[in-house]
Amino acid sequence: MDDCIFCRIVKGEMPCYKVKETAGTLAFLDIHPVARGHLLVIPKEHIQYYEDLSAGTAQELSSVLQSMIQLLKSKLDFTDYNILFNNGPASGQIIPHLHAHIVPRQKDDRVMRFDMGPARDEKYFKELLACLKDQA
Ligand code: AMP
Ligand code: ZN
Repeated sequence: MDDCIFCRIVKGEMPCYKVKETAGTLAFLDIHPVARGHLLVIPKEHIQYYEDLSAGTAQELSSVLQSMIQLLKSKLDFTDYNILFNNGPASGQIIPHLHAHIVPRQKDDRVMRFDMGPARDEKYFKELLACLKDQA
């Protein structure tokens, strides 16, 4: 897409701090890092949602994620990390080109956390399960 920042990075029309490139993916430093080593891994193809990844690119992306985590861990001082895909604006996705954030974490850094939701009764779970199984 012409007006997509990440497509422009893929095409070489915009610079990035590239860490690794494969046939179908690109890994580069996040320009507003929330932690040292905050990295983005994207498919070169413009898609917005994770489920739109082809099986082959999903596999390639997963393997690049693993190798980037190994690289980061070998060079930087951390053991724990988040992998985060925001999917769509309601989830916080600002750039509508699928990207995985790798965020190295330190104890008590308070970078991000999902809080637990409220407790639910059995009716809630049974209804939801019936709904999901009905569609499967
Ligand atoms: P999201 O909210 O998941 O869409 O996150 C978009 C991320 O892209 C943010 O963490 C930004 O800091 C990052 N970002 C935006 N523009 C660039 C860029 N030109 N190079 C690297 N990272 C970028
Ligand atoms: Zn794009």
